[in-house]
Amino acid sequence: MPHPYQGIRTSVQDCGHFVSGEWITSSGSKVEINSPYTGSPMASFRNADQPTVEKAIAQAHAASKDWSKTPIKERSQVMYRFRDELIADLELIASTKSFESGKTIGEAKAGLLKGIEVLEFALSIQNMDAGGKLEVSRGVSCEFRREPIGVVSGITPFNFPAMVPMWMIPIALTLGNSFVWKPSEKTPMTSLLIADCLKRSGLPAGVLTVLQGQKETVEMIIDHPLVASVGFVGSTDIARKVYQRATNLGKRCLALGGAKNHIILLPDADPEIAAQGIADSFTGCCGQRCMAASVLLAVGDVDQIIGKVKAIVESRSPGVDLGAIITKQQVEFLHSAIAEADAEGADVVVDGRNSNNLPSEFKAGNFIGATILDNVKPKSMAATKELFGPILSIIRVKDLSEALEIEASNAYGNATSVFTSSGAMAEEIARSSRSGMVGVNIGVPVPREPFSFGGTKNSKFGMGDITGIPSFPLWSDMKKVTVKWHKQNDANWMS
Ligand code: NAD
Repeated sequence: MPHPYQGIRTSVQDCGHFVSGEWITSSGSKVEINSPYTGSPMASFRNADQPTVEKAIAQAHAASKDWSKTPIKERSQVMYRFRDELIADLELIASTKSFESGKTIGEAKAGLLKGIEVLEFALSIQNMDAGGKLEVSRGVSCEFRREPIGVVSGITPFNFPAMVPMWMIPIALTLGNSFVWKPSEKTPMTSLLIADCLKRSGLPAGVLTVLQGQKETVEMIIDHPLVASVGFVGSTDIARKVYQRATNLGKRCLALGGAKNHIILLPDADPEIAAQGIADSFTGCCGQRCMAASVLLAVGDVDQIIGKVKAIVESRSPGVDLGAIITKQQVEFLHSAIAEADAEGADVVVDGRNSNNLPSEFKAGNFIGATILDNVKPKSMAATKELFGPILSIIRVKDLSEALEIEASNAYGNATSVFTSSGAMAEEIARSSRSGMVGVNIGVPVPREPFSFGGTKNSKFGMGDITGIPSFPLWSDMKKVTVKWHKQNDANWMS
């Protein structure tokens, strides 16, 4: 059922910085932004300047002293209440996210629910991560203790204003850190609601900080001597820069980047499952997600399935069941990418540039319809560059080996999927792929908790993953405590 309402509001939201439990302003330069749906002014903020960043991080550091000593079971009680608050505000957060990021309401809700699932994982840390103790020599015990590291930070992208921050915030807070969050400058509004939920949950002032801003604010956060760790999610070029900057300072960093994900379509695939999975993958969130499959490696004769994909996406209408594109410049870029693919010899079999049936309230918004490019060449721009729009590039290949060769040459490594009814084929692809996340008959293979999220190659700089147990080293240290209380007669090298 198409959703006619995308969280539209008419007032312009002034977005402040959340410092020591209060919303404050700064004297940094003012930034004004428009809604992707309506093209009208939506929000404004002032870049967090040096004094604001200094004050915020000093207060985050002060707050971390008590919070780090609060037992994890007490910290988890705050997180339980945080979950209740988020669920109570689900509709409001979803409509805000939708309005500012271009998602449909359904997509916005799904993103928050996935974020809540990470929160639920964080709630299990108190029971799961109890450490361990062993008598390692006579009278000598050795013990693991997980400890917080102080002030940590998270820099997040526009396309998941709640889910991506929720990959980091619940785990980092539950592990006993203060968290400094710099939301995307394109979607600052959701951060206000999430911070308010945490405040109502009883999180002590200063344990969560929100700083609105752009490049300079990010750099001030990374460079601040009291910031021990940097989690980043965004485009590859920025992820690489952030990773280099943080690690040059000797800080730990995990920076997730962009993607170009492949689906391998085999002729024995179930046509209904495959067509729906492919169509949903490249058009969901209007293609603005790092797990969107934007390249289809069509093995042999799969025309019947491609015909079904075409029929599904042609029935989707921008502004109704296909969301908006974040900026006008990005819409222009997508138009130029389609034109370039056309010039490079691809067939534009579905052309989203021609979709004019927008609801009247969205006439000034940023929209493009689903687009399918067929007979795309493997090394061309449309096959290799992250476009971040609802565009599918189909590359025709003769067999699975050719498909695997193209998939292996991908500079990115987020996701690869296969649609087939053969378990042996699926296993061969799962084994040979170097992507961090593989799907079998699933177009968007996002692992659900407790399985962690993270890619490889240019989709991830740093060790571990951003969720699950592999995220713990980003936000905590493992201390080893070795203890002896009594002199032992049978002395060995340890005594
Ligand atoms: P972006 O890289 O433009 O921005 C991400 C963050 O970096 C923002 O908070 C922004 O303010 C900050 N930033 C921008 N320029 C900076 C600079 N020069 N120095 C320091 N910080 C800077 O990304 P975006 O357009 O907001 O998001 C879309 C991108 O994010 C896509 O490439 C998408 O694939 C990627 N993404 C990846 C994942 C993943 O899990 N791998 C998830 C979501 C989005």
